[in-house]
Amino acid sequence: MLHVIKLWLEDGSVVPLPKVVTAAFGEDENKHTVCVYGHVDVQPARREDGWATDPYNLTEINGNLYGRGASDNKAPVLAWIHAVEAYKALDMELPVNVKFLIEGMEETGSNGLDVLVEAQRDAFFSDVDYIVISDCGWQSARPALTYGTRGNCYFYAQVDLLAHLWRFPTVSIHGIEGAFSGRGTKTVIPAKVTAKFSIRQVPNMEPAVVEKQVTDHLHAVFEQRKSPNKLKVKMIIGAKPWLADTKHALYEAGKTAVKRVLN
Ligand SMILES: [Zn+2]
Repeated sequence: MLHVIKLWLEDGSVVPLPKVVTAAFGEDENKHTVCVYGHVDVQPARREDGWATDPYNLTEINGNLYGRGASDNKAPVLAWIHAVEAYKALDMELPVNVKFLIEGMEETGSNGLDVLVEAQRDAFFSDVDYIVISDCGWQSARPALTYGTRGNCYFYAQVDLLAHLWRFPTVSIHGIEGAFSGRGTKTVIPAKVTAKFSIRQVPNMEPAVVEKQVTDHLHAVFEQRKSPNKLKVKMIIGAKPWLADTKHALYEAGKTAVKRVLN
């Protein structure tokens, strides 16, 4: 099934987000239902970033596949699809009901996913007992089960520059949108500059609190500068950290499976 969620932008316009795919295999009431989460979107990649091959052209070298998103998150999603397919091909009964939830906005904070989950709470998700997320890497070749991640608060701090500022010296810093960071010495003053920064979250940090503290601090500092320009601060992503209970049945199952497959 395909679900379309819409996103309301600041200027009032509405854009449809990439479709979220859901699928269900088996609906045996006597079995547990496991929902596998995955995503198909990727972070931007350019050859200049250090790629040995074209990042958007899946390339096989010595039996390994290289391409943007190959491991984050195509391969883990495919592994689950192959597992279900294997049961079907062998005419074996699935030990659990399997559901898939595959989205396309993960890299920008899963925009709209909360809306979908809420809307489908009593429908698609009503019988889901467990959620499995295979969207984490291993630190080394040693298998690993992830039981916690840091959260992230990502901010845009936008300064609307008044035209008369051209009389003053300006400093352009790399990584600030609107500031010139290419080769050469372009000195045109943009209408606005946006600083992008993020703060990683650890347990006991609340994104809403971080948002208020960062916003208040930036406004207080900006106020002191007596600048004629306008500052706007917006938290784009507010993801909480999480820490799982490694004694949970899912982790026990995961440990057993990893041991059995990878020894
Ligand atoms: Zn991912």
